[in-house]
Amino acid sequence: MSGAITSTNTAESGSLSTSDRADLHEDEQVIAEGLKTFVEVGRALRDIRDRRLYREAHETFEDYLTERWGMHHSRAKQLIVAADVEEEVNSAAGGAGETATMVAKSALPPPKTAIPTKTKPTVQNERVARAVAAAAPKGQRADVWGKAVATAPKDAQGKPKITAAHVQKVAATSTVAPAPAPATHPTRIEWGKDQVGRPIQHEHVARAFLERPRFARLLARVSQLNKFFEELAKSAAGGYAAGNMQDWRGRVASVREAVRFAAPYAICPHCSGDKCYECRNQGWMPEDVYKRVPADMRGDAK
Ligand SMILES: [Zn+2]
Repeated sequence: MSGAITSTNTAESGSLSTSDRADLHEDEQVIAEGLKTFVEVGRALRDIRDRRLYREAHETFEDYLTERWGMHHSRAKQLIVAADVEEEVNSAAGGAGETATMVAKSALPPPKTAIPTKTKPTVQNERVARAVAAAAPKGQRADVWGKAVATAPKDAQGKPKITAAHVQKVAATSTVAPAPAPATHPTRIEWGKDQVGRPIQHEHVARAFLERPRFARLLARVSQLNKFFEELAKSAAGGYAAGNMQDWRGRVASVREAVRFAAPYAICPHCSGDKCYECRNQGWMPEDVYKRVPADMRGDAK
């Protein structure tokens, strides 16, 4: 491999030049670091969520995620679950404890499949963490993990290669009750009632009503906005703002109304949710539209 550094045909031939090898090593370091950090990121997010550290500038954790990181709540949840799994599995694996002490503590000989603490495998990536999370509920994951480690195929160095697929296989054959799969859409039982107490019968209506908290959050934002403006009006630069206060309040009121009268309120009394011209093909109506429907048509006692 003389002159490998200046060689131009290393890309075609199979072997790597010294500098290529160094580059590969560096690139892989970056990847390894990145794979390791999913746990750290998950932990950081969990801390911010649990202690509501976002509260100064953001209404909710969800708002914080989108506004600060452009991250969807479901993504944060994945990372937090991954961190939870990694911690549960690692604390059960004996943490930094030494094999000798572990053996001394136990009257029984260590099981054949026991792996020395030094080489005890950790959850390497998110896919594996998610597979463990799906396989068993919180508090029972170490069991699945232990079985996965014990039965995993070994690599050339004798280290178990634990993949998500392997964890799934172990979970399928294990006695641990699998955690219920998260529903991708609301089930009928969870559909609940509209704001006038009618049970929701259609999935598209249920989906719309599930979004109602977003309208509430938006209204909370409007209140916050209002507060900011009132504070501004009291500041050194607030002269004109204070003079326009009445106008401002009128505008805020119409914004509030626009939000409120866009939110799902009642199942459409004309089509009972099937979608029709009267409900703009939604199956439901906002409050103001619903209140304009003749009372005998609405059929409610109000
Ligand atoms: Zn309708």
